[in-house]
Amino acid sequence: MDYKYNDSVAVVTGGSSGIGLATVRVLLREGAKVALCARTEGRLMDVASVLKRDFGEDRVLARALSVLEPEAVHSFAAEVKATFGRCDLLVNNAGQGRVSTFADTTDEDWKAEYELKLFSQIHPLRAFLPMLKEAQGAVVAVNSLLALQPEPHMVCTASARAGVQNLLKSLSKEVAPDVRVNSILIGLVESGQWTRRFANREDQNQSRAEWYGNLANSKGIPLGRLGAPEEAAAAIAFLGSRAASYVTGAQLEVSGGLSRSI
Ligand code: NDP
Repeated sequence: MDYKYNDSVAVVTGGSSGIGLATVRVLLREGAKVALCARTEGRLMDVASVLKRDFGEDRVLARALSVLEPEAVHSFAAEVKATFGRCDLLVNNAGQGRVSTFADTTDEDWKAEYELKLFSQIHPLRAFLPMLKEAQGAVVAVNSLLALQPEPHMVCTASARAGVQNLLKSLSKEVAPDVRVNSILIGLVESGQWTRRFANREDQNQSRAEWYGNLANSKGIPLGRLGAPEEAAAAIAFLGSRAASYVTGAQLEVSGGLSRSI
């Protein structure tokens, strides 16, 4: 499929790892120029130098920042404008999940989780919407199936993620017809968060294949495995492209069939 990303500019938050990095790579391959951000400067710059080598120095812009710092996000937007002149696609991907039950989630945890989930959308949206409107562009948010299908061991993150879907739906109406706003709902994708949980597994003798296999079985994933970051990235690239020009306010599940709703 021709996604028509040639001559377009995309911004990917959390672009140094996992789903974000796979998205950066697919967008670059499809012809876009890409600006990416993440907090850890060393890892981000290592990733950026490989991307520049593979796709060209002038097609990649990387800045170390937290999406929770509005001034830094606004400076990043100004730099994207100065460097690339426009922004056609914003992929709001930065973040991570929180494992906690109601009993072990403190008030501070609730506030931190709501801040991360909502403001990781709000700050980049405020900064990039003017350029997106000018370009008749698109937003794709990376969210979790937990937004629709909560789990008691992730009570706080699931609740905040439901709020994000609600925000995105309203936004899709407010910024239409200039900007399309869509999201993907991830089940379990084999990336940074799961790599960290695998490293901290109870039984350190368990192999990677065994641990991931057990995880997929225990979750009852119909496709029998976790997703690859590239599989999430393909859905993001579709929703952000002109191939999805009549799709807005939608959510696409990328969960190997884990969803129970119709
Ligand atoms: P990774 O840990 O592999 O990647 C997360 C990326 O976000 C990294 O680049 C990280 O870099 C960056 N990041 C985190 N916090 C911030 C911040 N405050 N500001 C800027 N960058 C930030 O995770 P995944 O690829 O798995 O996750 C991507 C998204 O998908 C996340 O929002 C996650 O919650 C969501 N998701 C993932 C699921 C999965 O199974 N993998 C399931 C459901 C949702 P750094 O730490 O250097 O800032």
